[in-house]
Amino acid sequence: MKIICIGRNYAAHAGELKNEIPDKPVFFLKPDTALLPNGRPFYIPDFSSDIHYEVELVYKISKEGKNIEESFAHRYYDQLGLGIDFTARDVQDYQKSKGLPWEPAKAFDNSAPVGIFINKADMTAEKGIEFSLTKNGETVQIGNSEMMLHSIDKIISYVSGFITLKKGDLIFTGTPAGVGKVSKGDRLEAFLQGKLNLKVEIL
Ligand code: ZN
Repeated sequence: MKIICIGRNYAAHAGELKNEIPDKPVFFLKPDTALLPNGRPFYIPDFSSDIHYEVELVYKISKEGKNIEESFAHRYYDQLGLGIDFTARDVQDYQKSKGLPWEPAKAFDNSAPVGIFINKADMTAEKGIEFSLTKNGETVQIGNSEMMLHSIDKIISYVSGFITLKKGDLIFTGTPAGVGKVSKGDRLEAFLQGKLNLKVEIL
């Protein structure tokens, strides 16, 4: 399986990192070695002194598809949950300044903790899907699927024009404002529609 991540999908977060708002989805990949199962601790890697959390809605692809039309995209996912796109911000800033790829900052081992996947049929979301992240019990990020610049259906349509999506692939849909640094001893908890979905202890 592979992990596809969308960048700059919330206007306020693009603003806090002083990035332009893209007219097409910006995407990058993480390998399967980036996955960190729910409840496992995250160890700060020694190549960075500025690891940031980014809580994101994550959709699980349920069947193979290529060149998927936006109007059919909803047939290609049936579950969603939350994930954290851990980012070595110092490494990313360096890579960006040199025009280099982001993988050293984004694709490293255990950089993608994921929580519990819930059937989309079981989610009632009249006003979009709400999610949030707390650090040591204090809310640091709040998001809603309706704030996304590119919807999951548009993302699936766009990305599948380049890359075949396969059953089990995960799509991280971008982070809202409020990203920040983690330190040893921090406890992250992510909530989906008010329910605890994902827990990570930083070591
Ligand atoms: Zn992200």
